[in-house]
Parts: sequence; C-alpha cells; structure tokens
Amino acid sequence: MNKVKEKSKTINLNLLNHDKCKSWDYLQDICMTCSICSSSCPVSGVDDFDPRKMVRMVSLGFEDELIQSRWPWICTMCGKCESVCPMGIDIPGIARKVRSLRDRDKVPGILHKGLSMALKTGNNLGLPDEDFIFIIEDVAEEIAEEPGFENFKAPIDKKGANLLTTIHNKLVNTHTEDLKHWWKIFYVAKEDWTVPSKNWEGTSWGLFTGDDNAMKKMAGRVADHMKQLEVKNLLWPE
Ligand code: SF4
Ligand code: SF4
Repeated sequence: MNKVKEKSKTINLNLLNHDKCKSWDYLQDICMTCSICSSSCPVSGVDDFDPRKMVRMVSLGFEDELIQSRWPWICTMCGKCESVCPMGIDIPGIARKVRSLRDRDKVPGILHKGLSMALKTGNNLGLPDEDFIFIIEDVAEEIAEEPGFENFKAPIDKKGANLLTTIHNKLVNTHTEDLKHWWKIFYVAKEDWTVPSKNWEGTSWGLFTGDDNAMKKMAGRVADHMKQLEVKNLLWPE
C-alpha cells in the first residue's frame, strides 16, 4: 500500500518543462521555496493544498495537471501569501490565471451556476426585482422599529446620492441582519447613500472564476448604474 502511494508521488523528470512558465505574466520562476506563503495561508493543508506547491507546479511546467486539480479553487484569493512572500510573487494572480484556463463547463458547479445566473438576471440568486425591493423595504422597516432609527428608510435608485452600494447576495438571502449593520452606520454617519434596484450583485463571480469578460460585464453594469443615477462613489463590499 505504502509502495503504491510512494510510486504515485514520483515525479517523472522528463515531463518537466520549465520554459513553459516563461509565457506567464507572473514571477513564479523566482520562488526560492522558503514556505513563508504556506505558513501564512489560511487554507494550507486542505486537500494537501499549499501555495508553494502551486507556484512550483507552474514553475516546473505542470500547468495542465494544475488546471485539472482542485487546488486553485481551494485558494480564497485573500492575498496573505503575496503580502509575505519575500520575492513578491502574485500567488492569488497565479490561482486566478489557472482558473481561467479551465474549460468553462468544468468550472466547479456552484461558481459556474452562480455566474451564469448573475449574467442572465443581474444576481446569482435569480431574484426578481420586485422580490429584491420587497426584501430591502422589509429590512428597512425592521430597522425603523429600533430606538434611534425611527426615520430610517433604504433609498433605492436615489439620483445624485453620494454613495452607491452593491450587496452581497447572501445578505438578501440568509443574512439580512448583516445588512442592517451597514445601513445603521450610514444612518448615524448621515451618509447620502443609495442601493440599485437592478444589478445589485456585490459578488464578482467573474473575478472568482477567472472570467475577465464576465467580470467586465458585471462591473460595467454597476458603472452604468452609477452614471445613470449620477452617483460619484461606489462601495463594493466584495
Ligand atoms: S513565500 Fe514566495 S518565495 Fe517563498 S515559497 Fe512562497 S512563493 Fe516561493
Ligand atoms: S491567496 Fe490563496 S494561496 Fe494565498 S494565502 Fe490566500 S488562500 Fe492561501
């Protein structure tokens, strides 16, 4: 049993293709295998994932194996590894690039479906506009019942507001309490804010799936909304 396991971990040196990594826009070929990234990574050890291994695989030309593996999808893209890497290697950038190289229909199900739905309907839940507005107004009414917030209202599509905020989909699904924290801060700070009635999705599904076109499309929708409403500032919580 142990012998089989050991054999499967043997690297065939004839498969190494170090030159392959030169076509990448990243600095993975200067990794000195110090492992500082591994010790800072919050998901090191999950399914044997380790950022150093990912960097080394690209550097050694094992692109295809990495594209097929689960590792780039385990990375949360938090950037902690990059901030401590003495060689300044953009490890989350590498993870995203590897994700972008996977066939779109092989992107992990929840992300693939979420992105398709967000592109089609403006949010990954496929929530109709009227349901979204109902939830927003309902949460606002709950806040207005609290002492000190009696006049609270959630301004939807307010033209000329100072700040437009997008919303993480779970905040209108299962975590509406978290929505209240943001809005109460706006109220106390006397912020002139608004929330869009359409394309309010605050999760950049294109970013997480390595799909630049989708990312541009979703970001473009938010930018268009700001232009139409003449809002100058954006709070994109994710
Ligand atoms: S911290 Fe940077 S140099 Fe060190 S192993 Fe990780 S990627 Fe390589
Ligand atoms: S960006 Fe990815 S690899 Fe780097 S620390 Fe965060 S989870 Fe780990």
